[in-house]
This record gives sequence, C-alpha cells and structure tokens, in this order.
Amino acid sequence: MLLSNLHTHTTFSDGKNTVEENILTAIDKGFVSLGISDHSYTDFDLTYCMTREAEYLAEVKAMAEKYRDRLEVYRGIELDGYSEMPEREAYDYIIGSCHYIRTPDGYFSIDHCREGHMELFERYFDLDPYSFARAYFDTYVERTLAHRPDILGHFDLVAKFGMMPETDEKYLSLAREALEVCLKAVPIIEINVGTMARGIRSCPYPAPYFMKDIKAFGGRVTFSTDCHQRDNLDYAVKEIEELFRENGFKSAVILKNGKFEETEI
Ligand SMILES: [Zn+2]
Ligand SMILES: [Zn+2]
Repeated sequence: MLLSNLHTHTTFSDGKNTVEENILTAIDKGFVSLGISDHSYTDFDLTYCMTREAEYLAEVKAMAEKYRDRLEVYRGIELDGYSEMPEREAYDYIIGSCHYIRTPDGYFSIDHCREGHMELFERYFDLDPYSFARAYFDTYVERTLAHRPDILGHFDLVAKFGMMPETDEKYLSLAREALEVCLKAVPIIEINVGTMARGIRSCPYPAPYFMKDIKAFGGRVTFSTDCHQRDNLDYAVKEIEELFRENGFKSAVILKNGKFEETEI
C-alpha cells in the first residue's frame, strides 16, 4: 500500500508540529502524499480549533509548493459537524467529524476528556448507552447529510471511553443503520488509529467489527492516524493494511495527482 495520511493536525490547531515538520517526516517515511487537516472553527469552543484559517491555507499552500518535487501535499480540514461549511474551493478535501452533542445547555464534547464525556452521559442520558449512542449517531447522520464531506471521520467516536455495549446487537444495529446512510452519501470512510496511538483505545475507529458492514455497504476505506505528533504519521499502518485484507478489501483510498485513487494492498 502506498503511504498516505489525510488526517493530520499541526500547530494551527492542536497538533504538536508545524506543517513543515509534518511534511519533512512524511518525506523521511517515504509517503507519496500527505493531507493537512486542522480543526475547523467552532465559535462555542475555542480550546482546539483553528482561529487563523486564512493563514493556515496560505502556509499549507506555500509548503506544498516548496516540497512539490518530493511529496504531494493537500489542503484539508477536519470539519466539525457544528462548524459552518467552509468555501469548498479553498480545500482539496473535507473530513467530516462530530465531536459534540447539542444539549439544551449548549454543545458538549464527547471527545475532549473522560470527565466531560461522563458528565454528558450522566446528566443528559441517565447513563443509558442506547440513548447516548442514538443521540450521537443521529447527530452524525444529520451533520454528514448537511455538510456532505469527502471522508467520514472517526465514525464511532462515542465508543472512545469504553462506555458503549460494543458487542450488543442493539448498539450495533443503531450504528450500522447510521453507517449505511452515511456511506450512501459519502462512500469514503477513514480507518482512524489516533486514539490507539495515544493509548486510550486498542482498536481503530470504526471498530474492526464494522469492517464487513463497510464492505457490504459499498464503502471505500482510507488509512488515517489523526496525527497530532509527527512520529505517529504511519502508526500501525501494517496492522490496518492487514485488517483491510482480512475483510476483503483489495485497495485503499489515497489522494494522488489531485484525485482520490485506489492504492493496492
Ligand atoms: Zn476529530
Ligand atoms: Zn483529528
């Protein structure tokens, strides 16, 4: 599989490295392409989103130009479900992710930390995993259909802190239903190892038991590490390649020559 990663963060949002540092590491590791995808602006939470979007776009463009002979660099964005849709032409691609659930008291992050996640789960869902999962997947479907991104981001993020009954058929069918609708609208889904790299979870998003569903629903997969630290640009790539193969995928999606292409695995 040719090496590529379209979900990477830099110091423009909550990543540890600059755009250039990510590019240099990708070159060292033999990548064919790299996408930078910092967090979209969310006016209700400024803790990790981009606040200098114009500067970001200019910097990624300048760096792409500087390294054009050594690596294909693309301008992406991780668009939160509750951010405004950016100008389509400004970006080569958009990853659609949902980090928040809307409550009567505002937007709550399910992603930021275990304490916040638990507070949301307890206060608004009475620790009922099904209503929590339903609220999350309903949000995911609604925002996916509203934004129509190019790639579905960390699909089952609601399972991040292990609060979902992940082997339970009721939970699985809720998730599968959402997955089918989303893949019909947006057929490319990332297999995201970011939380594995940070030692919080032992499997990617979506969890491996969804791989057969993705295949059955006609989905196309792309490897991503949701990279916040450049050493993780290719984290667990071999394992994920194996997971693709085991589930009948013969290729994965990368961006090459300005288009989504299949790379053999
Ligand atoms: Zn995210
Ligand atoms: Zn991310």
